[in-house]
Amino acid sequence: MYRRRTARTASQNALTEAMSALEYEAEESFEPIKLHLRTARPSDDEIFIDIGDRSEQVIRVTAAGWEILDGDDDLPVLFRRTAVTAPLPVPARGGNLDALWEFVNLPASDRGLIIGWLVAATILVGLPCPALALLGEQGTAKTSSARRLFSLFDPTTAPVRRPPNDADRLLHAGAHSRGVVFDNMSSMPRWLSDGLCRFVTGEADVDRALYTDDDVRIMQVQGVLGFTSIDIGVLNGDLAERCVWGDLEVIPADRRRSERELNSAWNASYASMVGALLDLVVLTLQQLPVVKLGNKPRMADFAEILAALDHATGSDTLSRYRRAQDSVAEDIVSTDQFLVAITETIKRRWTGTGKALHELLRRPSDDRYWPEPRGMSGKLRRVAPDLRKAGWQIDEIKPDPTTKRSKTWVLVPPDSAISDADLASVKLTREFVAEDVRAWIARFMANGATASCATDHGSAASSGFPITCRTPGCTAGWRSEWDTPLQRSRALTSRLADELTALGISVADLDQYVGSDPFAPPGRGEETVAPPKTEPR
Ligand SMILES: [Zn+2]
Repeated sequence: MYRRRTARTASQNALTEAMSALEYEAEESFEPIKLHLRTARPSDDEIFIDIGDRSEQVIRVTAAGWEILDGDDDLPVLFRRTAVTAPLPVPARGGNLDALWEFVNLPASDRGLIIGWLVAATILVGLPCPALALLGEQGTAKTSSARRLFSLFDPTTAPVRRPPNDADRLLHAGAHSRGVVFDNMSSMPRWLSDGLCRFVTGEADVDRALYTDDDVRIMQVQGVLGFTSIDIGVLNGDLAERCVWGDLEVIPADRRRSERELNSAWNASYASMVGALLDLVVLTLQQLPVVKLGNKPRMADFAEILAALDHATGSDTLSRYRRAQDSVAEDIVSTDQFLVAITETIKRRWTGTGKALHELLRRPSDDRYWPEPRGMSGKLRRVAPDLRKAGWQIDEIKPDPTTKRSKTWVLVPPDSAISDADLASVKLTREFVAEDVRAWIARFMANGATASCATDHGSAASSGFPITCRTPGCTAGWRSEWDTPLQRSRALTSRLADELTALGISVADLDQYVGSDPFAPPGRGEETVAPPKTEPR
């Protein structure tokens, strides 16, 4: 409003005053009016984009198309501008976004998803839009790629910024433009990771006052975030889930052009690329109401935009996004200390309590974030989504509340996954073997074996290879009618061996999978073989 009346570039102070005046006016009339920065979406099917120059033109986008509204038209929304607001070109019709890849050197496989992200960055006003993470080594033009991508929906005079040093700077950055790019991030400390997550989701940061020291406001900043990095390392899972990744490729020396050449080529196609993006926004808005996602990933609003875009254009951005999310989860699992300990230690199905897991996993030398035995279940619950995405099966088995047993966990690594049916089958075979051992012990006890050697006779015969016994007092010999059961025992033993081999586990491991041995070691624990009815002669 200030600008419309004065047709002058507002200083930051004037702007702040203008905003205060607007806020005051709004409060006076008991009808608070929200001020929008660049983009407003007053209803699901109507988007307004402030061109941001003196003409005061605004782009109105609906499922029916996009049009340029004159600044004098009555708009249902009010925009504010800041010191860094730069004008969008008046979009031109009939362009396409293919020209973009001349400036942003992404492999063809990444391009569709980045287009989807641009569409989402335009539509998702007041809703979480994932951060764009552009990775690439020296010579990939990360900074200018980020600048150009963001300038398609929110050009600013401060297109990229240095990574913030503290949470205040992060909030300030977000208060001045819709899109914010942090350039050359080299590390991602926890506070920054959390701050960026809040930035994406729009969670309020209560105790920060932005413009005044005495007036504590609830500061809520939500915008479209981007960052570039040569190697950011592994991100915290929460943030990684809120990112879309682009791996920039090195531009060969013979294809490199000067910034001046690039800028002039960019300016020639800028307006038509913005128009092409708006065309895609229109197509997406048409499909958005009919999109229903059964299985919603974390960034559900974004996934819906991709699904709608795919519907409209036949692209496959949603499945690419899902696949990228899966591989991010695998990366996290391969780097987080706790997850590494789990994946290195547990190679097969494992069942046990949090305390047992604590004893099993080797504590790293730098164990500041290592959970205590009591914290193990909580930690498992937090990392379970990451493990599941990497193919693990994680189940929490709550005990019967009447017992005092603690809850147990079942962890099954990917690929080695042994199904419950497989386990039931091998467990049954083992019970047959146990039964067979008992039958042999009974036979030997009834035919001259002593209490101390009967078990050895039985186990040996059951495995198919009877022993010659030298135990004093033992008169057990081999009887010809045992040849047939011996064949059966051999077959049974080899069946158990085959089943175990197929699952890739050993007999000893089997106890670990099924929790407990169905029979105590024959002849050694309290659960000994029932004494034979017939007394030995
Ligand atoms: Zn014997």
